[in-house]
Order: sequence, then C-alpha cells, then structure tokens
Amino acid sequence: MCHRRRSSGNVSTVLVAAALIVVALACVPHVLAQTPRASAPPSGASPSEPGRSSSKLDKAAASSAQAMAKYRASLEPVEAMYERELARQTELAEIRQELYERGTLSASDVQQGRRALVKAQKDVDDIRRQRLEVDRMMVEMRMIEVGKQRPLARGGYEETPGLVRFNGPAPWSLAEDVPKLQRFFQARFGRSLPISAHGQTPLHDRMGFDHRNALDVALDPSSSDGRAFMEYLRSSGIPFIAAWGAIPGAASGAHIHVGQPSPRLVGRR
Ligand SMILES: [Zn+2]
Repeated sequence: MCHRRRSSGNVSTVLVAAALIVVALACVPHVLAQTPRASAPPSGASPSEPGRSSSKLDKAAASSAQAMAKYRASLEPVEAMYERELARQTELAEIRQELYERGTLSASDVQQGRRALVKAQKDVDDIRRQRLEVDRMMVEMRMIEVGKQRPLARGGYEETPGLVRFNGPAPWSLAEDVPKLQRFFQARFGRSLPISAHGQTPLHDRMGFDHRNALDVALDPSSSDGRAFMEYLRSSGIPFIAAWGAIPGAASGAHIHVGQPSPRLVGRR
C-alpha cells in the first residue's frame, strides 16, 4: 500500500523551518546570558538624620534625582531587548504551531515554546511596570522641588505649564478620605480610581520620602478625567499637586499626588 507523500517542496520548507527553530532555540541561553541586568533602584540619600543641615538635604536630593535618572536610563536598553525577545518568541510560537499541525513537532515542544512566550511577555510587563514606577518617582521629585522653592499659601491654587497644585485647607486623612474619592470616581466614570501608590511604598521608602499620608492617582492631569478629579479635590478643599511632562520625551509618570507634598523622612518611626 502506497502512502501519500508530501511534495519535496513541502519537506524542504519544513526542514528549513525546523532548522530555524533549532538555531533560534540554541541562541536563547546565549542571548539571555548577555542580558544586561538593570541595577537595583537607587537608594536615595538615606533618610535624614535629625539635625542634618538643609544644604546637605539639598545635595542628597540632587544626588537622588541623578541616581534615579541613571537608573531609568539603565532600564531602557533592557526593555528594548525584552521587547525584541517577545517579538521573536511570538514568531517562533506561530512556526511551532504550524509544525505541530503538520505532525513535525511534538505537543511537549509546543508547550515548552508557550512557556517561553509567557516568560518573554512577563519580562516585558515587569520592566515596563518598573520604568513607570521610576517615572512617577521622578515626577514626585519635581513636585517636592517646586513645593520647596515656591511654597504655596494655605488655600492657594496655582497652574503653570505641566503643573497644578492646591494647598487645600481641609484636613486630609488617607484612611478616612480615600473611600470618598473612590466613590466619587466610580460614580462619575464607572470604573475604579487608578491608585498607583497608597501611602508609603518601598520606592518612596528607598528614596527617603515621607508618603505615609499621601495617595498617588495614575491619571494624566491634562486629561478630562484628571481635570474632573482635580476639580472635585479642589471643591472638597483637599490638597493636591499634579504634574506631567517632567521627563523629556516621555509621557509616562504623570499623576496626581493627593495630600501635602512629601517631605523627606526625618528619622523613622
Ligand atoms: Zn505621591
């Protein structure tokens, strides 16, 4: 009995594709071995000790900002490399699936490929999240700097390019007021308030900022949602500072900080 045979053209296509996969898979450990690792987030100046002079604090703040900018720059090539790896794994997944359907590749090889694709996606998501967190921290630093250079009188409101701030007179408490803000936002926009930092975060801690009674909301203050939220804060007398466009060429990092600007930590509780 004679079996139907593939045409020689199909066979060579399959062989070429299989060879490509073998070569591509063999390259993976090599590529990963070369992965430049982003260094750990900078630890800003250590939390200020009581009695430290303000000029020392200024120097510490400047060096924190420089360290953060350097750390952000170190993430960029890693992010680009992870994106290339994700594109490659996506392409390989399609080839594997095709070969599996033709009976050339085993189900376990396809499964292994899927795991590689999931990992590549996770690497991209993780590093993007890390960069966004750094971008927000750089915006926070700008807020703190403006607050120090041009303190706002109680009840004062100011709008300058890329910055809106209000020194609301109402007492503000993270514990008591956040649910009120969440209810307002949910009722107005039909979705949850996008909170990016609720109180102190490890990165605020690391940078030596007291964020214990502050809330960061990941809304672009120049958007209509951001505007509506700020109007609500202002009408409620709640202090806030909102900034965007602090990082040249990057839109990310824009957010609204609710509460007084974070002072630098003086000692720890
Ligand atoms: Zn904040």
